[in-house]
Amino acid sequence: MVGRIKNSCIFGCQSRVKLAWIWLLVVLICCGCGDYGINGNEKEPARRIDTAMGTVISQTLYGEGKEEASVGVLQEITALEQNVLSWRLDTSRIYEINVNAKKGQGSMISPDMEEILQECLQVSEASRGAFDITIGEVVRLWDIDTWAGRADTENYPIPTQDDLQKALYNSGYEKIKLQDNILSMPQNLQLDLGAVGKGIALDRVRAYLQEREDISGGVISVGGSILTHGKKQSSETWKVAIVNPRDTSAYLGYLALNGGWCVSTSGDYERYVEVDGIRYHHIIDPATGYPAQSGVKSVTVLSESGLLSDALSTACLILGEEKGMTLAEQFGAEALFVDEAGEITMTDGMKAYFHLSK
Ligand code: ADP
Ligand code: MG
Repeated sequence: MVGRIKNSCIFGCQSRVKLAWIWLLVVLICCGCGDYGINGNEKEPARRIDTAMGTVISQTLYGEGKEEASVGVLQEITALEQNVLSWRLDTSRIYEINVNAKKGQGSMISPDMEEILQECLQVSEASRGAFDITIGEVVRLWDIDTWAGRADTENYPIPTQDDLQKALYNSGYEKIKLQDNILSMPQNLQLDLGAVGKGIALDRVRAYLQEREDISGGVISVGGSILTHGKKQSSETWKVAIVNPRDTSAYLGYLALNGGWCVSTSGDYERYVEVDGIRYHHIIDPATGYPAQSGVKSVTVLSESGLLSDALSTACLILGEEKGMTLAEQFGAEALFVDEAGEITMTDGMKAYFHLSK
């Protein structure tokens, strides 16, 4: 059912280079920079790099409307963050839902929001709670986003067992109730869509691009989660690189894809703090309250759904290869795991797309 490729030399020196920029470089390389003559050539794609959702957004778009569409894509992503997904911005729907819950009130939700939450809950159930959008309080205790990349990690305040247990006690996706367009949850429960935000953004971008007949194809990266859309000018496939989790300036191989795919990667190398040789990373196992330790260094998930590729990559990193593989297959997704020894394991379906770097 699964394939294993022995790869003995992928773990090299660690790089401190910011991951999102590495991804960006990789996407640019893999989109075939230089394929198409000089700027101004109508076959030349529009390329754009921006920041939104706290990460790097890169776009390569082909078609007559490429310049205008690239502005539209950025607007879609920014609006999604500001109006819907952010747990930080008081303009967003998630923020409002969390505030209402604190006041002991339910919230009316739109059909779009209901669909997003239902899909998240499905992944939670299927992963037996490994994926859980109510784990935010525990994530905040670890506060990896603040400490990742800092020099003074000897001062990093590792959360106490006691605090973690209390925060875990308050969490739990099964406490979310969705009925008749009303979401209700206990006062101390808070939603955090951080593990699926980029994937949801890809779904939005795809819907936007599909509406535009003046766009023939493109690749959009939202912080390393990637959407392939339509066709490349040449009849080649899109190539999406998979980063080496131990040397993020190198990549293990690439996926050769037609349009219509979303690729998300979760890894313990993305955001972490190292103290006394122990790595505390940003993906938390709700079963323990501690960063996941499944023996997996990174998981890449391929799905037609951005939300699913993102949710499943997070869940699979927590569950490890065997259970993760089963989970991905349950959702019709493909997955590729890199373990601590650098060994690559993937679903059968993934083999049709993956090419190992030489
Ligand atoms: P990245 O954002 O680096 O691509 P992920 O998509 O895997 O990585 O999402 C990680 C984020 O998801 C964390 O920063 C945190 O906000 C949130 N998170 C951490 N653990 C879980 C979990 N078990 N279930 C759902 N969300 C989680
Ligand atoms: Mg994710």
